[in-house]
Amino acid sequence: MKKEKLKCVCGTWTKPKMFRIEGFQVRGSECPKCGESYLNPDDAYRLSEYRKIKDAVLDAKVAMAGNSFVVRLPIELVRAMGLKKGETVHLSVSGPHEVVVRTDG
Ligand SMILES: [Zn+2]
Repeated sequence: MKKEKLKCVCGTWTKPKMFRIEGFQVRGSECPKCGESYLNPDDAYRLSEYRKIKDAVLDAKVAMAGNSFVVRLPIELVRAMGLKKGETVHLSVSGPHEVVVRTDG
C-alpha cells in the first residue's frame, strides 16, 4: 500500500489505515496529529458507485449462450461490486423468486 502514505493538510505524514465504511474495506490513511483521514481513490470510487445503486432494483434480460442462460449485469452493478472479466461469482437461491450473486471481494 505504497500510495496510502501522504502528507496531511497540517503538514504531518499520514499512517496507512483500513477503514470500514458501510461494510466496505476502504484503504486509506490517517493523520496521527490532527486525525484527518484520506481514502484510496479507487476504493472511494467503488463506495460512491455502491451508494448510487444500493437498494435499487436493476432489470436484466435473460438470454441464451449455447445451452446456458445468460443474465447481463448492468454496468452500474459491475462498478459497484468491483467485478472483473473472468471473475467467478457465487449464485445461491434465497427464495422462490430470488437469486443472490456473491463476490469474493
Ligand atoms: Zn493532519
